Amino acid sequence: MRLQGKVALISGGARGIGAVEAHLFAREGAKVVIGDVLEEEGRKTEAAVNEAGGECIFVRLDVTSEDDWAAAVATTVSRFGKLDVLVNNAGISITGGIEDLTVEDWERTFDINAKGVFLGTKAAIPEMRNAGSGSIINISSGAGIAPAPGTSGAYAASKGAVRIFTKSTAIQYARENIRCNSVHPGPVETPMLRSARGSDTQLDEAVDRVPLGRIGRPEEIAYGVLYLATDESSFVTGSELVIDGGRTAQ
Ligand code: NAD
Repeated sequence: MRLQGKVALISGGARGIGAVEAHLFAREGAKVVIGDVLEEEGRKTEAAVNEAGGECIFVRLDVTSEDDWAAAVATTVSRFGKLDVLVNNAGISITGGIEDLTVEDWERTFDINAKGVFLGTKAAIPEMRNAGSGSIINISSGAGIAPAPGTSGAYAASKGAVRIFTKSTAIQYARENIRCNSVHPGPVETPMLRSARGSDTQLDEAVDRVPLGRIGRPEEIAYGVLYLATDESSFVTGSELVIDGGRTAQ
């Protein structure tokens, strides 16, 4: 029960890594709010977490909307009394070389991956201040440190922005005991990986770049996020947790 008494809001929690984080956080005693644009999948994840004995609610949240964030944080506090942990997990990956990317692709990627993190952070800070502390975990990517061949330039740049925004948040709010760290997954088996690297050849190439020789599992990311959410990481802020099978060490 490493998160007993904590309240967590996870964006993009309907499926993939976010849904696994929701299950793990609930198992560790947290009350969990998942926010996503996917209502049906979000409701299913909510039900699955509750059936497993956790306490979870789904809220409709488009991370690009400041109003949606205000409503999600207000619902969290009215339902569970406070907000201790925010996981800015929602993200998209639009594939394509730089010459193939449209301005719309670039803007959509930055809206969700970078502006979404800014808006979530902005909405959460006042409630964390009220709670006396907080932990914000931003899911960046290995691509935000060193993009692999074939990674979209817009995706990599947006995840690099998340990495630096994390450090900026960390130093601005450290004296209020609000911590902020980024997590940098390598390739992980989720719907996003399947749509970004659809063919078997592309997946094989991704595996070849990972020294551990395989794709990661969502729970291998969620355990890292869990550590940053708990008080076990109370002296960790502004840092980068790389969980990528060694890909960016090469
Ligand atoms: P996923 O596509 O399975 O899940 C992403 C979730 O974000 C979905 O539920 C989706 O509906 C939600 N989302 C998208 N746009 C949204 C919006 N505007 N508002 C609210 N929710 C929105 O992908 P995943 O692999 O679970 O990705 C989770 C995070 O991990 C992302 O930030 C992604 O960039 C990052 N990541 C994934 C991998 C990987 O290989 N899977 C690698 C590195 C980083």
